[in-house]
Amino acid sequence: MELTVLGNFGPYSTKEGNASGYLVQNGADFLVMDMGSGTLGALQTAVDVRKVKYLYISHLHYDHTSDLLPFRYLLEDLGHTVTVFTHEEDTAWYNLLFHHPRLQIVPIDAQSEVQAGSMRLSFSEMRHTVPDYAVTVRGEKTLCYTGDTLYNDNIPRCFAESDAVLLDCTKPQGFTGPHMTVADARRLANEYPEVRLFATHRSAEYNPTADLADCKNITVVETGKVYSL
Ligand SMILES: [Zn+2]
Repeated sequence: MELTVLGNFGPYSTKEGNASGYLVQNGADFLVMDMGSGTLGALQTAVDVRKVKYLYISHLHYDHTSDLLPFRYLLEDLGHTVTVFTHEEDTAWYNLLFHHPRLQIVPIDAQSEVQAGSMRLSFSEMRHTVPDYAVTVRGEKTLCYTGDTLYNDNIPRCFAESDAVLLDCTKPQGFTGPHMTVADARRLANEYPEVRLFATHRSAEYNPTADLADCKNITVVETGKVYSL
């Protein structure tokens, strides 16, 4: 099982990398998780898009969804359709993003369990400024991706049941917005030493790599890199 980082920045892409997006490969199956700005190019670098059958969207902020709009042009050109797992919302942005014949929407909630080829997906509610669900991907290994979130009661379960967690935890200590900080990352890494913690969603102005360098089970991910799970 492999994780390719299509983008690791939020709330916008920078000179160093794209906004949020990830590609999971399990055998011959590919799952894209979120599609922020810049990720469409990175996706085409990483894989023949016709092999991608599944997409997961954690929440509807622009830095996780904006490349979904031009992605539809590519799907039209290829005559290719993808299955999209996301929670339902009655908003104009939801309708604009997802109402397209090349996107087959499968609504999910915290009770859902769905199959994405050889991968089994389940979901848990996170805590952000808008609804956000973490996805747990069970394939050769178990990977949890939280989307954007503050620490919440579902996070311990995500760690307990996973080999690796891709976590929104790269804001500087003292940050008060709706994301976890390097202090949260350090605490969780110590609490779950067997779990590989992939730290993501960093800002342009702060690189957490040096501050987390002594936590051996934390990897601060970078756009374009491939990580074996
Ligand atoms: Zn967000």
